[in-house]
Amino acid sequence: MSTNQQLFDRAKISIPGGVNSPVRAFRAVGGTPRFITRAQGAYMWDAEGTRYIDYIGSWGPMILGHGHPAVLDAVRKAIEEGFSFGAPTEREIELAEEILSLVPSCEQIRLVSSGTEAGMSAIRLARGATGRSKIIKFEGCYHGHADALLVKAGSGLATFGHPTSAGVPAEVVQHTLVLEYNNVEQIEEAFRTQGSEIACVMIEPIAGNMNFVRSSVPFVKRIRELCDQHGALFVFDEVMSGFRVALGSAQSLYAELIPGFRPDLSVFGKVIGGGMPLAAFGGPRRIMEQLAPLGPVYQAGTLSGNPVATACGLATLREIKKPGFFEALSARTAQLAHGLQAAAQAAGVPLVSECQGGMFGFFFASELPQNYNVVMATDKERFNRFFHGMLDRGVYLAPALYEAGFVSAAHTAEDIDATLAAARDVLAQL
Ligand SMILES: *Cc1c(COP(=O)(O)O)cnc(C)c1O
Repeated sequence: MSTNQQLFDRAKISIPGGVNSPVRAFRAVGGTPRFITRAQGAYMWDAEGTRYIDYIGSWGPMILGHGHPAVLDAVRKAIEEGFSFGAPTEREIELAEEILSLVPSCEQIRLVSSGTEAGMSAIRLARGATGRSKIIKFEGCYHGHADALLVKAGSGLATFGHPTSAGVPAEVVQHTLVLEYNNVEQIEEAFRTQGSEIACVMIEPIAGNMNFVRSSVPFVKRIRELCDQHGALFVFDEVMSGFRVALGSAQSLYAELIPGFRPDLSVFGKVIGGGMPLAAFGGPRRIMEQLAPLGPVYQAGTLSGNPVATACGLATLREIKKPGFFEALSARTAQLAHGLQAAAQAAGVPLVSECQGGMFGFFFASELPQNYNVVMATDKERFNRFFHGMLDRGVYLAPALYEAGFVSAAHTAEDIDATLAAARDVLAQL
């Protein structure tokens, strides 16, 4: 049996940094990444046989927990029928119909294989549909690693302290404006000076790549107005928040608070694949019909709408649609988020928490941050000690203070209680 450290040392020989996605390397928190051998329900086991309560859930997709029987059945059946055909299938229609029935802003949707691909394609579509080049994004929002979006992006990059990635020519990002999240004045100023050139504004409505920060209602409302006035498209990146914070995704929450609110385009991933490589982007028919083969905006993918991935996603969506699913998940998540805050208060440690649906965040600070700079100014040293204390006690939290956490339907009240007991123990030593 190999230890985590032996596997990490071996991995570093054949894989850059030993990982296939940077945050997994534990660079932000230090220490040795856990090499996972299997997972079931709310738990994961590492190579040394240690069990963890999993609050990453593959960074969001595992909303049902690991190895849900209905999902396993669907995937097994799909595998028997064939892995990939490169031709259309009925299951793609079923998944598209399922997503559209839950998201009224979308009349059509196209399936792809990763959130990065979906976000990149949505921007190409927005540019093609408007005939404009400029895009606006917000600091701390992550929309995948497409060149034009690697401008002070959140996750991963933040750890390494680079405002942009090497290998991205300045010309490629010259049309990307990066503004402060929740800053109404900045977006007004951007539209005042360049409104006629802006193709789209892209946002994580509930940002999960700078821990957990909500976009304020006045901010979203103002962006909607500015986009309408200037003919720009409003793109909701719901790769993380989609079908995770509510059955209708984050946009359904804003629609309750802003009458008639809809984004123009939406980007999904994570939960809609249930742990398989699957993502999507959608919007009104008149915009979506700009895509090839109907329109001039090219977009394609060998494995897009893969029959096994769509089976997995479809089975997952059918479970989360069941009555009471989100009520139960929200209550469980709130038990954790509120419990953490109460435990910290009892220990005299400043900590604030936030949650929505099955997604949560917490900050070693006395007030909830409203933007990236404030998030990054929270107590990193304390977070890292807390993270390792929890890991040592069998609780696997996201290994960086700028990442959100996830609770699944498989987490029981006892799992949360055990987590809070561990937290009390660790907080007493901070
Ligand atoms: C995870 C994520 C992406 C990128 O998705 P990948 O599947 O990792 O390419 C894009 N946007 C948001 C909001 C995300 O959380």
